[in-house]
Amino acid sequence: MKMQQVSDNCFAVLNEKNRVCDANSGLINRAGGVVIDTQSDLAHARQMIDMFSKVWPAMPRRVVNTHEDADHVWGNQLFEGAEIIAHRSVPERMKHVADPKESQKLLHGVGRFLTRLVLKALHPGILAAGQQLLEDYNFDGIELVLPTTLFDARYELNLDGTEVHLIYVGPSHQVGDTIIHVPKERVVFAGDVLFRQCTPVGWTGSYDKWFQCLDLLMQLDPQVIVPGHGPLCGIEGAREMKAYLRYVRDESKKCFDASLTSLAAAKQIEFGPYGEWRSPARLYMNVERAYREFRNEPPDAAWDTAGTFDAIYQVAEAKGIEAEF
Ligand SMILES: [Zn+2]
Repeated sequence: MKMQQVSDNCFAVLNEKNRVCDANSGLINRAGGVVIDTQSDLAHARQMIDMFSKVWPAMPRRVVNTHEDADHVWGNQLFEGAEIIAHRSVPERMKHVADPKESQKLLHGVGRFLTRLVLKALHPGILAAGQQLLEDYNFDGIELVLPTTLFDARYELNLDGTEVHLIYVGPSHQVGDTIIHVPKERVVFAGDVLFRQCTPVGWTGSYDKWFQCLDLLMQLDPQVIVPGHGPLCGIEGAREMKAYLRYVRDESKKCFDASLTSLAAAKQIEFGPYGEWRSPARLYMNVERAYREFRNEPPDAAWDTAGTFDAIYQVAEAKGIEAEF
């Protein structure tokens, strides 16, 4: 992890490995301090707090969660007494998608020989993902702390004269997607509507909604965007991700029309230049999302997590690369 200054009063902590769970956090060091997203486990959250303490010595008084995913909210409990702000949907969604029990069970299981054998036979993708997570993460001790200041379309903070706009843009990647715009400093903290140099994943929402959101990112004309995952960028980051999603949707349509399954399609579609990004086999999720739209399924249809990780694993195998999540 490293901290980077983004503008006069904005900072980011970036997780350079840029694989699943390696989310970024932000800090606006004015008027009590605002932290944006709180990391995937307590050790990473403490490291983030430590890094930010070099530019803002007090514990920040406000936290914004850009959405409900575990990797953005599992450090919330360390900000005791802070006001936690998020879109109105986030607390309920967190209870469903960020319950730490399953992930704790998985990492404990992966540490045991017998469970590893069973997983290897039944769910090789889950095993590979669990082993990768075990390299960096420990989910013990995590308790959900839910946001309590909730908003619908928009929420504004005035930090001693610096305006901060929280803009709801979901569902694009998740239901609660929110971007944080600091107009005076030309900075946007994008959460997971922007992945940089790693393959995006989305759990709900539609392609068109995500395109609109990326267009909005470009229209805001920031100098710096802090993505949810990956290094800092300018609006070219939004442009590239839009091009990727377009490419995947177009290729998926051809495969859908040729009656291939989404898994067969993901094995067949070329990574192209995006093979350089981290975790390229996560392509499967974007193909499956496109298929859901072609089949007119609701965008919030639930994912079979084990099946999804196994499919990513199989795509990596078919492409002859090591499975990375
Ligand atoms: Zn994330």
